[in-house]
Amino acid sequence: MSSNNSSFITVPGFCPDCGSILPLLSESGTVACYTCKREWNSEVFGDMQMTHTLSFNTKHTYAYIKKDEDSDDDADGPIVERQCPQCRNDRMSYATLQLRSADEGQTVFYTCTKCKFKETENS
Ligand SMILES: [Zn+2]
Ligand SMILES: [Zn+2]
Repeated sequence: MSSNNSSFITVPGFCPDCGSILPLLSESGTVACYTCKREWNSEVFGDMQMTHTLSFNTKHTYAYIKKDEDSDDDADGPIVERQCPQCRNDRMSYATLQLRSADEGQTVFYTCTKCKFKETENS
């Protein structure tokens, strides 16, 4: 986007009158400047309203992913598609552990990502 043809630059989200940051648009579609008390309509945000929604979604997704990572840490391992026998959730994390000598194989620990049900499997 270019603002070459506009000599007066209004920064979206800021009061065009006094330059104060504006609160969010109210449900009625207007916003009142905290500082100079002037009321503006949604145009004062330009296309920021959309940007705001997008960044909000991004933040939301990020929060979700982060939470997921946390539970991965908690479950201590990568996630595999495996049905939990207890709650039928189809995602379980697994961790392998060499409990016995190498030629006897290893034990795989599965942990349900949902109910934390644990089961082990010898391979
Ligand atoms: Zn103002
Ligand atoms: Zn489960």
